[in-house]
Amino acid sequence: MTLIDHAKQGIITDEMKVVASAEGVTPEFICRGIANGQIVLPVSPYRDTKPIGIGKGLKTKVNASVGTSSDIADVDLEVAKTKVAEAAGADSIMELSTAGDFYEIRRKVIQATSLSVGSVPLYQAFIEAARNSGSIVDMREDDLFRVTEEQAKLGTNFMAIHTGINWVTLERLKAQGRHAGLCSRGGALMSAWMAHNEKENPLFSEFEYLLEILKRHDVTLSMGNGMRAGAVHDSTDRAQIQELIINAELSDKAHDFGVQTIVEGPGHIPIDEIQANVVLQKRLTGEKPFYMLGPLVTDVAPGYDNIVAAIGAALSSSYGADFICYVTPAEHLALPYPEDVRLGVVSARIAAHVGDMIKLGDRDDDLKMGEARNELDWAKQFKVALDPQTAAQVRKERMPSDTNTCTMCGEFCAYKIVKQYFEL
Ligand code: SF4
Repeated sequence: MTLIDHAKQGIITDEMKVVASAEGVTPEFICRGIANGQIVLPVSPYRDTKPIGIGKGLKTKVNASVGTSSDIADVDLEVAKTKVAEAAGADSIMELSTAGDFYEIRRKVIQATSLSVGSVPLYQAFIEAARNSGSIVDMREDDLFRVTEEQAKLGTNFMAIHTGINWVTLERLKAQGRHAGLCSRGGALMSAWMAHNEKENPLFSEFEYLLEILKRHDVTLSMGNGMRAGAVHDSTDRAQIQELIINAELSDKAHDFGVQTIVEGPGHIPIDEIQANVVLQKRLTGEKPFYMLGPLVTDVAPGYDNIVAAIGAALSSSYGADFICYVTPAEHLALPYPEDVRLGVVSARIAAHVGDMIKLGDRDDDLKMGEARNELDWAKQFKVALDPQTAAQVRKERMPSDTNTCTMCGEFCAYKIVKQYFEL
């Protein structure tokens, strides 16, 4: 029996109890949320993972993606990035390699973390086709399903699968045109395969077969956003919304079939469209968990896209997004290194917290920090800081002569002056 089967029968599992305790809600709340499709708890029958809940009423979760590229395919680097991401506070890892020995890389990444791991199986299917037959358009339909099953057996908890790209979606994309095409690798690969072979997307046309595989291995389905815009000038267009409508319909089928389901969203969107994207996704899907990929709210800050995405992610979370994908400073420039990963995770965690302050009214740590600052109690401040090591390090490197203050204002510390001359 899968986790969602348990939930539908009102059976509370150990994972549900762990998540309830971490979130400060009752196990019944988690069980009900999974049963009605508004919460997912990605599990795997093949390995133990730290359980996390994603969805309505729960804290916003942060994913960190790792994985090789055709230029930099170093397994040890990806393992190092995985460990850095977990240490920095990521809630899940997506292993998105597009080069090297897929099986070995995924196995080592999974071994290196206690977190839930996600994947995009179609990458492997398309790239193996290119290796074996010379082109991605030679991918055989069966390979999509074979790879999905192989990756599930390795202990993958959730999979991003591009179910919502069909001929209706592609016709809308072609009729409308775009300034910057597609930025989703999965979307680009599947669209190219469909156009070249003049065939329907097998992940759409054989959706029930896909569901059988996912259910057999209790994998959570994350419905990919292959039509997401890669430029803010293309945001929230007909192709993106068409794909969302198809995914929303399929997400109901998946839930009825007994597969936990997340729906993914854009992408590059300006801040005045974020609320509309979240509301649309939630309305169309019956409030299924929303996995926001960024969003990047401007296109002109390469080198700082962790900040650009954090602005978008904070707003997304505040409007109701449940899961955000980190973006590193190396986005659009290079494969991230471990320090990029650390900065990406910390930036996304800040965004998630800022969103949760609105979405959940989660402000207790902010109050503790405010009081600790007023008391000039540095130990207390570091205790509630999102990244205590960095905070402590910065202070240590520039210690003031009066250790009650800091070197910013020194003897004219505002908190100290207030304490000295009047009490608030
Ligand atoms: S010295 Fe200035 S910056 Fe530092 S704690 Fe006091 S008021 Fe804040």
